[in-house]
Amino acid sequence: MSKFYVVATPIGNLEDVTFRAVGVLSAVDLILCEDTRVTARLLERYQITTPVLSYHAQSAFSKLEKVLGLIEDGKTLALVSDAGTPTISDPGVLLVSKIREKLPETEIIAVPGPSALAAALSISGLPASDFLFLGFLPHKKGRETLFKEIASSKRTTVFYESPHRIMKALESLKTHLEARPPSGRKIVVARELTKVFEEVFAGTPEEAKSYFDKNPDKVRGEFVVLVGV
Ligand code: SAM
Repeated sequence: MSKFYVVATPIGNLEDVTFRAVGVLSAVDLILCEDTRVTARLLERYQITTPVLSYHAQSAFSKLEKVLGLIEDGKTLALVSDAGTPTISDPGVLLVSKIREKLPETEIIAVPGPSALAAALSISGLPASDFLFLGFLPHKKGRETLFKEIASSKRTTVFYESPHRIMKALESLKTHLEARPPSGRKIVVARELTKVFEEVFAGTPEEAKSYFDKNPDKVRGEFVVLVGV
C-alpha cells in the first residue's frame, strides 16, 4: 500500500517543526511543495536531501496525473506548503481528493503541526471551542456581505488577511460591528506570528485601525484577524 503524507511545516520560526515531520520528509521518495526556494530553507536547516517537485495552486492537470502515476508506481510522497498546514487556505485539496477517488488503497497520513489559524486562536483569549474560519475573504464580490455576517455571528470568527487589505478590513469591521449590539466588541489582530516582528493587538476595530494608522511600518507581513462575540 502506498503512503502519502500531508506534512505541516513552520509558519515562520524554523524550529517549529516536529521530529516526526523531519523524519518523514527525510524518508520519503519525493516532497511536493509550493515554492521550492521556501521549502529548500527548511530542508537545508534539517539537512534533508530528499528531492522536491513544485506542486502549487496553478499546477497544470498534467502535474496531478504525474503525481498520481508516481503513487501508483509505489513511490512514497509528502506534501508541504510554504507555511503551516497544507490545504488550509493552501494548495493540495484537489490532489488529496483525487488520491482518495482514484487510488483509494493509498494511505493518506497527516503529520500535524503549525497552522496560523490555531496559533492565533490559542493566544487570542477569545472563545475557541467553537469558531468560524473563513480563510481569505473575497476581494470584491460578497466581501461586505461577509463582514455583515461576521458582525452578526454568535461565534468567534477568524480570517486570514494580506497587508494590502488589512486596513480596509479593519474599516469594514468598524462599520459593521458598530452597527450591531453589543457595543465595544473586541477583535484581535495577530501579525507575523513566531517571527522577529511578531505582534498581537487586541481592542475594538476603531482602536486597531487607529493603532495601525499611527504605525504604518506595522502594516506589513502576515495577518490573522479574529473577531470576538
Ligand atoms: N496553510 C497555512 C496555515 O496552516 O496557516 C496558511 C496559508 S495562507 C496561504 C497564508 C496566510 O496565513 C497569510 O496570508 C496569513 O494570513 C496567515 N499566516 C501565515 N503565517 C502567518 C504568521 N506567521 N503570522 C500571521 N499570519 C500568518
